[in-house]
Amino acid sequence: MKQLTMHEILEKLEELYDPPKSFLDWNTPLDLLVATLLSAQCTDLRVNIVTKKLFKRCRTAQDYRDIPRDELEALIHSCGTYRVKAKHIQELSQILIEKHQGKVPDTMEELIELPGIGRKTAAIILYAVFDKLEGVAVDTHVMRLAQRLGLSKNSTPEKIEKDLMKIVPKEQWGRLNTLLISHGRAVCTARKRKCGNCVFKEQCPSSLCGNDT
Ligand code: SF4
Repeated sequence: MKQLTMHEILEKLEELYDPPKSFLDWNTPLDLLVATLLSAQCTDLRVNIVTKKLFKRCRTAQDYRDIPRDELEALIHSCGTYRVKAKHIQELSQILIEKHQGKVPDTMEELIELPGIGRKTAAIILYAVFDKLEGVAVDTHVMRLAQRLGLSKNSTPEKIEKDLMKIVPKEQWGRLNTLLISHGRAVCTARKRKCGNCVFKEQCPSSLCGNDT
């Protein structure tokens, strides 16, 4: 079986999908920062429902800092782990006010210093808001697809990100996240992957072609 190249994977994904820079709804950098934080262990669909109301109530870092904690928790409750998320939102808002004039910083180093913000969130913000490519955002879809397609043998987001950064051209680092998420949602799902319908079925090392589960 001829091994799939990264170039072939990207080319086929680009033919199939035209995803936005983020599946989360946002207007300002702060919106996207908060929405991405809320999306941990939650679907983008749910986050977009929650932020519709949240973004009307809170527009600035001051708004997030000053909103009573219980009101913020109630607003984001359905995203799960709402107590921790509310705490992080208020802590990071305080830092934005103190250190960044209330604005979202535009470097990986500054972003990952904020409570609740890891490399994945930072990479998404940098790409979607600032058009900067400083990493590959690795979420559960990206992890699963990278492993199944044979792009990484590792199992932690940090190591998978490093593997992907080595083999993916830098100009595609940002796009890779939403392309793989698109394929992960449509075809290579976690529980019932549809290998028979997959463009990679002939070459994918994890193909169950002819034996779909
Ligand atoms: S062939 Fe199957 S395992 Fe491989 S990418 Fe396609 S759906 Fe996923």
